[in-house]
Order: sequence, then C-alpha cells, then structure tokens
Amino acid sequence: MRQEHELTAHVARIIQASPENVSIFFKGRVALFATLKAIGIGSGDEVLMPAYTCVVVPNAVKYLGATPRYVDIDLSTFSARPAALLGAIGPRTKAVICQNTYGLSWGVDEVASRCRDLGVMTIEDCTHGFGGFYHGKPNGSWCDAAFYSSQWNKPFSTGLGGYAVTANVDLARKIATFAAALPGPSLKTRAMLWGLLKTRRFVTPQTYYALVTAYRYLSKRNLVTGSSSGEELDGTKMPDDYLLSMSRVQIRAGIKALKRVPELNALRKRNGVTYTDFLKSSGFNHVEPALHDDHLFLKYPLLVSDRKEFKDRAKKAGVPLGDWFLSPLHPIETDLSPWDFDIARYPRAAFAAVHVVNLPTDSQSIDPIISFLRKNGDLILPNDVKKEGNHA
Ligand SMILES: *Cc1c(COP(=O)(O)O)cnc(C)c1O
Repeated sequence: MRQEHELTAHVARIIQASPENVSIFFKGRVALFATLKAIGIGSGDEVLMPAYTCVVVPNAVKYLGATPRYVDIDLSTFSARPAALLGAIGPRTKAVICQNTYGLSWGVDEVASRCRDLGVMTIEDCTHGFGGFYHGKPNGSWCDAAFYSSQWNKPFSTGLGGYAVTANVDLARKIATFAAALPGPSLKTRAMLWGLLKTRRFVTPQTYYALVTAYRYLSKRNLVTGSSSGEELDGTKMPDDYLLSMSRVQIRAGIKALKRVPELNALRKRNGVTYTDFLKSSGFNHVEPALHDDHLFLKYPLLVSDRKEFKDRAKKAGVPLGDWFLSPLHPIETDLSPWDFDIARYPRAAFAAVHVVNLPTDSQSIDPIISFLRKNGDLILPNDVKKEGNHA
C-alpha cells in the first residue's frame, strides 16, 4: 500500500493532479475500460476516437457492448481534426476519446470545452503524452478524464502498466472502487515481468533489433507476457485475464522509472526540435511546430515512400526505428471489420499506416540518425505529401 501511494503521488506530481484521483491498473487499456465503465458507457452508446489508434482502444469500448466510431486523421498532426471530431458527434455519442498521438495533443482544449457544452464526456488517450504540455496545461488535464500507460515503449516504463486520472471526484471514486476490487496478475506473469525488466538494461542501439525480435518471437508463442494476448488481436471478446490490478513488481519499477522522467522528457523535446529543424530545412515531411504548443515527442513520425526498404537500410545502419502504427488499428494487419472499421472511409489514416516510421527521441545523441536520414533522403516523402489530396 505504501509503495502504491508513493507511485500515485509521484505520477500526480508530474501531471499536476491530486494523488487520490489517480488509480493504477495492470495495463493502460484496463484504465480506459474502468473509465468508460465509470462514465456509464454501455450497449447502444457510441464512443468517438481517431481512426489511427491501438486496437485495444476500440476493444475496451466493445467489451462494454458499446460501438466505436472513427474519425479520419490529418497528416499534419496524425490526430483527428478538432472540427471533424466535433462534427461526428451524434445523438448516441456518449464520449469522445482525444488521442495524444506520438506525444502531440491537437485542439484538445477546443474539443473538451465544446463537448462539455454538449454534455458529452471526453477522455484523453494520453498513453504517449505523460509529462508533456499543451497550451500551458499538462497533457491529460484538458479532458474529463485521461489514461496513461507505462508499457515498454511509453514515456516511462514498468514493462506493462496503466493509470486512470480524473478531476471529477465522483468519477474518481467509482474508478478507484473498481480498481480496488481487481485481482493481481498470476505469479507466472509477475515472474516474467520481473525477468523482462531485468533484461531491459541490455537494450542498446547495438542490441535493439536482436532483443526486439526475440521478445516478439517469445510473446507470439505466449512464452513471455507480451503487450497483447492473442484473443485481443483476433476479436472483440474480453480475455479472461484482462481485468487485473498493477502488481508490486510494476509499482517498484514505476517508482524507479519516474525519477528519470524530467531528464528524459527534456531530451525528447530537444531531439524533436533537432529532427524538425533538419527535416524542414531539407524540404522533407515534418511536424509543423506551430501546430503543437510546447510539444514533446515520444517518437518522431516520418512518412517514407517504401517503408520496408527504409527499415532494411535502418537495420543495416544500426538505427533503431520504431514501427507504430503498422495499421490504423495497430497492430492488426488483417481484416478490421470485427472492430467496425472500414478502411476505405479513412484514407489519410490508411496512408499513414502504410508510410509511417518513427524515429527515437530518447537517444543521447541523434547525430547518427540525422546522418542516416541525410543519406537516405531518396525514400523520405516531401512535405507536400501532407497537403490535402496529395497523399493518395
Ligand atoms: C499503448 C497504447 C494504448 C494502451 O496501453 P497499454 O498499457 O498497452 O494497455 C492505448 N492507446 C494507444 C494510442 C497506445 O499507443
């Protein structure tokens, strides 16, 4: 209990929330599920979200019997346009998920305030945005509620982990009650997480590709606890071991990892600026700083003409590239109809999912990556691609 309080207090301090309004979970998706449930989402309700997200987001909606509805993104920010999100609100819309994609909020202030007038709840998917700011307020503080993740790739890591935060006292109490009733993960899962957290310190640019390949191989065969179970990727039925609390292995890892957040976020911010400056001055696609006040990139999104070739070259050069989002509902590369997703209706999200790679922002020196980009400019799309109609 004491360590749990230490963790929630530390999280609360960084996102400027009250510690009693922070609840912790086994994963971010469980925090989302708990929030949706506390809001009262159920059968017949619709929840809006960008058409460029992680499949676990519509899954949480489907598990409650509600319907996910998607809004295409804009390539300038990889987020849904505020006006498009607001325009998609219908009589059955009960909540809107604003996603902080790659660390970038876009118009979340406008969406949250308009929705408040309309009596529609807003939830910020802040899994990429922990510790960053938008228009002077911490990411996650604009909406009625927010959830965060500390999965491997997220701003701080506990292997797996999730946080629900809201300033709405009634909602916070409901979420906390739900969290307190959840069982913990099994001994096998906890042991596996402990082992993976110990292994993590061997991840360097030199070992990155080998370790990622090994982790994916083992998790696909259910030999280690991966981020998603097979059931979550095959359909929309809630797996048996989905609703779990955060274990002590994760709590301890969180307390440790949070110490590095200020330094790490300063680095991410600096590296983001360096990428933008280089890409912009070379005429390559980039994220326009004016669209994101005080932004902090968890990863830097870049559109390339031939992703496979680009990744092959990166691997040869030892440049650690990320590959989210492989699909508009990452990581599902097959039929998306179980999630009511018709890819033809979201051409910009479809385009991004085929052409995006992401650059790391947590390396102490990104000079080797910049020089890699310079050498491989033949595959980097020009900034024109972001203009309306130029992406097909
Ligand atoms: C990682 C992620 C989630 C889910 O977080 P978990 O902790 O893995 O459940 C949700 N939304 C987005 C956009 C993500 O990238």
